[in-house]
Amino acid sequence: MPLPSVALILERPMTILTRPIPDYSHFDTLLSESELTLRDRVRSFVRATVLPLVADCYERGVFPRELVDACAEAGLFEHHGPVEAGLIAFELERADAGVRSMVSVHAHLAQSAIRFFGSPAQQASYLPRMERGETIGAFSLTEPAHGSDPGGLEVTAKRTASGYVLDGQKKWATNATFAGVTVIWARLVDDDEVSPGDRDGAGAIRAFLVDAGTPGFRPVAIHRKLSFRMSASSEIFLEQCEIPLTNRLPGARGLGHALKCLNEARYGIVWGVAGAAEACFEEALTHGASRVQFGRPIAGFQMTQSKLATMYASVVRSKLLALHLARLKERGALHHTDVSLGKLNNVRDALDVARTARTILGGIGILDTTVSLRHAANLESELTYEGTDEVHALIIGRHLTGLDAFRG
Ligand SMILES: Cc1cc2nc3c(=O)[nH]c(=O)nc-3n(C[C@H](O)[C@H](O)[C@H](O)COP(=O)(O)OP(=O)(O)OC[C@H]3O[C@@H](n4cnc5c(N)ncnc54)[C@H](O)[C@@H]3O)c2cc1C
Repeated sequence: MPLPSVALILERPMTILTRPIPDYSHFDTLLSESELTLRDRVRSFVRATVLPLVADCYERGVFPRELVDACAEAGLFEHHGPVEAGLIAFELERADAGVRSMVSVHAHLAQSAIRFFGSPAQQASYLPRMERGETIGAFSLTEPAHGSDPGGLEVTAKRTASGYVLDGQKKWATNATFAGVTVIWARLVDDDEVSPGDRDGAGAIRAFLVDAGTPGFRPVAIHRKLSFRMSASSEIFLEQCEIPLTNRLPGARGLGHALKCLNEARYGIVWGVAGAAEACFEEALTHGASRVQFGRPIAGFQMTQSKLATMYASVVRSKLLALHLARLKERGALHHTDVSLGKLNNVRDALDVARTARTILGGIGILDTTVSLRHAANLESELTYEGTDEVHALIIGRHLTGLDAFRG
């Protein structure tokens, strides 16, 4: 397959490079025909439907609701294999991390929770609607006082004759303002099911499906963000929120099950941030070829070439690592520590690429007619969410040394 030229790829090409960008990793040769077809289809969808909205939505700080229906129509909410899901995340985040995140939280976090831990009745009721995009999902584990350490979460689920009453406050739930169903992780109280030793610990954590419009469930949008502006982030207030017994996910028991879902979304981030990095690299290369200072294109200076070579090495490394993890996942051989390694490496690399790309753009790099600074701002959130950089370093460190350094 011929390599795409820069002009074909860039969101808003500042110049036309006629030479294709070389692909030293021969990445496309590592994909099957059907994977390439899907990748190209999603790339066309993103170019036609997503990219035209991004700069304006980012500036206004809104997620455009109409994109949900468009993503559903494009089949992005269906259950895909690891490589396909990764390629979708990659292509979406070439446009903006907020769009990739909407899809990841809905298709990976929320749907995974129901797929892994739901009853057959819950799966039959929710999953087909979610795959068609008729019901959008959110996933709410984080609380104001419990981020990296969610094992101490304080939202309570009290058993009643007919179900549960949820009380407390959640924070940072993506999609929750427009979701049809939110997976709420809460602590069982006064329940015989929980042993006395587990009451304050992670063992008392369970998951509940809360449908939009349930009395006592109040999502409130978080505004004035400096990152992830094209994403619906939300606090959730739960005030005597009564749900039926049938809305508890019966298989979800303990924090480990929440982390199992998070692992699915973290895997998507490994791919997504590589897409953001590639978009920034291409923008910097294109600009460097056309911007003339001191009588020559700035790409002709050694320092710029050193930056471009380092950026390119990062992009190639990130894509190959993501694909390697995907092939491991296909074989059922992906360990959660591998995902931590991928998330840690690829977010760090992408952030370096985005910041360096911005330097090559000079002053125009702070305008929203360019993309690198927006990606860099988004990547700051990605360094933090789905396990911070430090948390993933601790996970890898624990695996390498056998010593748990989380509490000391
Ligand atoms: C845009 C966005 C979207 C999000 N979407 C969702 C969502 O859909 N659902 C959801 O449940 N959550 C979501 N989150 C929450 C996210 O997962 C948390 O922000 C993240 O887990 C970190 O928690 P925190 O912000 O409370 O930071 P803290 O946990 O307070 O961390 C602050 C700093 O302390 C460090 N730290 C903490 N513990 C240790 C330690 N043991 N050793 C060394 N350093 C440590 C951290 O690494 C970090 O640098 C989202 C967040 C953002 C920003």
